[in-house]
Amino acid sequence: MRALLLDLDDTLLDYSSGADAHWEAAVVACAPPSLDRTRLLTALAETRRWFWDDPERHRRERVNMLGAWQHIVEFALERAGVEADGLAPAIARDFAARRRDAMRLFPDTVESLEDFRRRGVPLALVTNGDASQQRDKIERHGLARFFDVILIEGEFGVGKPEEIVYRHVLGALGAPPEGAWMAGDHLEFDVDAPQRLGLYGVWIDRGGHGLPAGSRVRPHRIVRSLRELIAD
Ligand SMILES: [Mg+2]
Repeated sequence: MRALLLDLDDTLLDYSSGADAHWEAAVVACAPPSLDRTRLLTALAETRRWFWDDPERHRRERVNMLGAWQHIVEFALERAGVEADGLAPAIARDFAARRRDAMRLFPDTVESLEDFRRRGVPLALVTNGDASQQRDKIERHGLARFFDVILIEGEFGVGKPEEIVYRHVLGALGAPPEGAWMAGDHLEFDVDAPQRLGLYGVWIDRGGHGLPAGSRVRPHRIVRSLRELIAD
């Protein structure tokens, strides 16, 4: 391993855990008692799936997460047949605050990053999404000190899986694709696209679910934790 590119959300940072509970808590905190909460929560769950399932909408909306969450609540209120002025932004803001408070690094993140540094591996953080949210996560969790290069989609203007993202990062690290590894939880963004450029692709499958049925992506390695990469 001559260089390592790492994803942030659900790779270093436990991003997705608790999202359902946070939506529920935000609805309970913000919606008037007269509102049918079960109905709204069902609509929210359906809307979230639909909203993020479209790759083009995903790309457009993920660079402004607070805006995306507000849009999701607006669509869900409409789906549930509820009209309530100001409720969508209130729920979105409440949800955002709960998420921010709850997010934690995975238990092996810091020790693994320290180990890669000790071994002199040039490190890059390559993350899609909202510039302010991703910067806030990096600062809040003290991650910047580990990385030689940090690329955030919202700052760079383009995100994974565009080739220019990986090429730019490799250039900034001064590393050729051969011997460079990319590790992350997203099969297309963190494994397949970098593999096409000649990087070694590692899929982080923290849940141990295995490749989805019919996946055409073939990672070079599948690991359940960063610690497994250190064991090499
Ligand atoms: Mg990720």
